Amino acid sequence: MPHTLFISDLHLSAERPDMTEAFFTFLRQRINQDTDALYILGDFFEYWIGDDDKTPFHDQVIKALKSVSSKLPVYFIHGNRDFLIGQKFAKQCGMTLLPEQQVIALYGSPALIMHGDSLCTLDLDYMKFRRKSRSKWWQTMILALPLFVRRRIATNARRKSKMAQQGKDSEIMDVTPYEVINQMALNGVDLLIHGHTHRPAIHIIEDTDPLQQRIVLGDWYTQGSYLVCTAQGQELVKM
Ligand code: MN
Repeated sequence: MPHTLFISDLHLSAERPDMTEAFFTFLRQRINQDTDALYILGDFFEYWIGDDDKTPFHDQVIKALKSVSSKLPVYFIHGNRDFLIGQKFAKQCGMTLLPEQQVIALYGSPALIMHGDSLCTLDLDYMKFRRKSRSKWWQTMILALPLFVRRRIATNARRKSKMAQQGKDSEIMDVTPYEVINQMALNGVDLLIHGHTHRPAIHIIEDTDPLQQRIVLGDWYTQGSYLVCTAQGQELVKM
């Protein structure tokens, strides 16, 4: 049956070859001639310090994505960890970078897709950093630094973010319900698909016809996780 696949929050890195292998297995097992498109909704990598950071690990991932994108469209939305992925890397993988929010036609119905960090509006510190780090001047400044400096910055940022998260309420770390309703109304959709929170679920927001739904993709820390959408409906799958 024709279907579209969505994944996010794989947090791939050279330090976790098991998850990279799980991703390659996913591609081998799940992509077939009925797959219409693959959407990667951010935090595909644990961190990204610039397209010039060439490693054997990155080459492996490029090769895998390239082979998929030669058969079907692959789309990518930045997450809060890999927002520095640029056109150069996208081109190498044969994938299309989408803006941070996008309404797509999904078997006749519009769906809003995004990474999901922009929905966590109660995390004020993060929202402030987000505005800064998505600006052109900040990115140009960071990318001008030598690779070894950027690598050190990324390591520090990951350590700091882990510490900051431990002190925060789980409510702050989740999406703001009002922001969800707001974004869905603004974009005129009944379906929102995002990742980021690592709380995979299909939420019924409004029991109307058609249903108002928010689908949260799962992370790949301990197992693979993806969403299959067909004309009949949606299914979250663990592997
Ligand atoms: Mn995230």
